[in-house]
Amino acid sequence: MPKLSFSREVEVRHRVDVFVAGGGPSGIAAALSAARQGRSVFLAEGSACFGGMATAGLLPLFMPFGDGLNFYAGGIGREVYDLMYERGATYSSPGSMTPTIRAEPLKRVYDDLLSASGVSFGLMTNLVGVETAGSRVTAAICFGKSGLFAVEATTFVDGTGDGDLCAWAGAPGDAERRYEKGDEQGRMMPGTLCSLWAQVDWRKVWATRQGKDDETMLPQAIADGVFTIPDLHLPGMFPVGEGLGGGNVGHLFGVDGTDERSLTEALVWGRKSLAEYERYYKEYYEGFEQMELVSTAALPGIRETRRILGDYVLCLDDFNSRASFEDEIGRYSYPVDIHAAAATPEEQEQAREEFLKLRYQPGESYGLPYRSLLPRGLDNVWVAGRCLSADRAMQSSLRVMPACFITGQAAGMAAAMAVETGRASRAVDVGELQARLRAMGAYLPGA
Ligand SMILES: Cc1cc2nc3c(=O)[nH]c(=O)nc-3n(C[C@H](O)[C@H](O)[C@H](O)COP(=O)(O)OP(=O)(O)OC[C@H]3O[C@@H](n4cnc5c(N)ncnc54)[C@H](O)[C@@H]3O)c2cc1C
Repeated sequence: MPKLSFSREVEVRHRVDVFVAGGGPSGIAAALSAARQGRSVFLAEGSACFGGMATAGLLPLFMPFGDGLNFYAGGIGREVYDLMYERGATYSSPGSMTPTIRAEPLKRVYDDLLSASGVSFGLMTNLVGVETAGSRVTAAICFGKSGLFAVEATTFVDGTGDGDLCAWAGAPGDAERRYEKGDEQGRMMPGTLCSLWAQVDWRKVWATRQGKDDETMLPQAIADGVFTIPDLHLPGMFPVGEGLGGGNVGHLFGVDGTDERSLTEALVWGRKSLAEYERYYKEYYEGFEQMELVSTAALPGIRETRRILGDYVLCLDDFNSRASFEDEIGRYSYPVDIHAAAATPEEQEQAREEFLKLRYQPGESYGLPYRSLLPRGLDNVWVAGRCLSADRAMQSSLRVMPACFITGQAAGMAAAMAVETGRASRAVDVGELQARLRAMGAYLPGA
């Protein structure tokens, strides 16, 4: 492809201690924990609200904050969890560890938390470039409706889910070595365009569904020609309000969430495919006869893109051994949940078996080491959330939102401490970091 060089002088609109890219659970937690340490923070979020997949992405529910014995997402996760019940941001019964999401009240919870903590933020504000000097990032180039502008900062946290900041901090040609993407053949887990449905008669659904489930109904519907793609894995439709269904239905196979051309194709297909799922629910179950699609998500649901390579790469062995680390910043316990990259019965069955096998008993958990937040080759950057340093199996466990609160709050706290002490990320006193995290409620039994 032809190339042209591009350079501009841009306004330095903010000078802060900590710049955070991405306002999903990891970015929110990072921004809050750094601001509450007295640091100046700028948070850039590309979409129109905070919350990432939970709000703009229309996810129906949070995966477990705890397992009944331990509350793993202690700290900011706990605060969000409690506020969801206080502010009606969930339709779940009190005490549920997997609260369903009412996206609008949850957006306000995040607006209020960030405003109260003094974080400066921009919505509809994308990180589009990164300036570096040696192994330090010096400025984030952002884009909003006013055009391009810069934010200079002492430290940077990547909460984009896709590792944009870390990937773009490399010199041209160097970026590939900063991350891994997909399986051995580069295939990534499929995404899902989540959706919101009205006029679901949940009482009728529950009263009539005995003996019917997707394991039996889906193959039947596939055989009847309802679906274009014979996808045997259906995460499901969940009650998110009176008469409302939150749909995590259908898969976007082959989507690359770091390429807008691929995303465009996937979004068009995702919207189209929901007509097939509407037919499925209406014809194969009771209670969905009047269902109506209210909205598809503003943010496509992307399960996997870049996994940034850090000083430690969490791996399946760590899951199996319930690993503990001297430098752990939290612990978590969700199963290995790899969605098969292709809709073949063999691959989907393998993924199902692993999901059922690779899981813990209540009370069991694995540690999340500080080193997995430290992108190789960068001294003032931390990565948190879905794209931190892990293999595919571990990523499929720790990508869920309660875990993103855990890694995000640790990244933000460490960035704040690096600013305070004038140290590089690797020289942050981990004992002190653990003490401060514990003081804010983090689950750190062994540290
Ligand atoms: C379809 C699907 C279903 C899932 N189901 C569940 C579930 O039921 N429960 C659960 O707990 N987890 C679930 N997950 C996992 C979870 O939602 C995500 O992995 C998690 O939200 C990741 O958090 P994050 O903070 O890393 O990124 P995200 O939540 O993706 O947030 C990243 C934010 O950064 C913004 N952003 C990205 N790039 C830029 C940029 N360059 N500049 C500025 N802003 C940027 C995005 O707009 C977004 O708001 C699901 C994921 C998917 C895709």
